[in-house]
Amino acid sequence: MKFTASDLDHIIDSLAPYSLACSWDNVGFQVGRRGRNITAVLCALEITPGIIREAVRKKADAIISHHPLIFHPVSRITDATVTEQLATDIILSGLCLFVAHTNLDKSPCGINQALAKLIGLANLRFIQPEPVQIGKPQYGMGYFGELPKTLTIKRFIEEVKRCLRVSHVQVIGDVKVRVRRVAVLAGSGNEAIKGMDMRLADVLLTGEMSHHAALEAKILGMPVICAGHYATEAIGMKYFAGVLRRHRDIREAGVKILEAKCQSPPYEYV
Ligand SMILES: [Zn+2]
Repeated sequence: MKFTASDLDHIIDSLAPYSLACSWDNVGFQVGRRGRNITAVLCALEITPGIIREAVRKKADAIISHHPLIFHPVSRITDATVTEQLATDIILSGLCLFVAHTNLDKSPCGINQALAKLIGLANLRFIQPEPVQIGKPQYGMGYFGELPKTLTIKRFIEEVKRCLRVSHVQVIGDVKVRVRRVAVLAGSGNEAIKGMDMRLADVLLTGEMSHHAALEAKILGMPVICAGHYATEAIGMKYFAGVLRRHRDIREAGVKILEAKCQSPPYEYV
């Protein structure tokens, strides 16, 4: 059975609807031909020369990236900027590119669900549910959840480091608190402190915070753990790869779903 880029586009849209993406975002089918036959797909956090080489080496026909390659409008595709260079390489490699960013952040198939499950949270509720006419919201940004038991924040940090395989985290606020109710928001937590009712959580686990957002959190008395933008999001693309692999149409078409190996945070601790 022929499985095309357009079929993959519909599946991504059904699991993490593009309409959920934030207004400033740019998601969906970004590069390639709609009729391109797809036999293998590489799921990655973001587009780098290494990821394009990995896709070619593994004979993938498409890449699904969490971070958008084309974010601001481009008026040409040359080699003048990094975005243009990467777009050129994708086109010349004959690959299709799909982006699932804030739509995947808000989907239970995606980034925040993966983070909440990995650290063992139960009773998940959205921090910012998407409005619904009737019933419970199916989509939303970030989660509130509960640990199986109350931990010291130090013990919780050790758990987070183990689950996310990181050597360091940044901590904002009181390091003596005990935690059970956890808010998770993968990636940037700068916006989380605006309008979030922290009475509903003992600690916020996020990827990163700017100096000013961190200062605000500290003044508000909100304990925050920043475990890294990369570490909190890369696991989400693995999770989404698993969801795609189990999808009936993808199984029936025999499409291979691959997880990127050639990726790492852009900086390291020295
Ligand atoms: Zn991100």
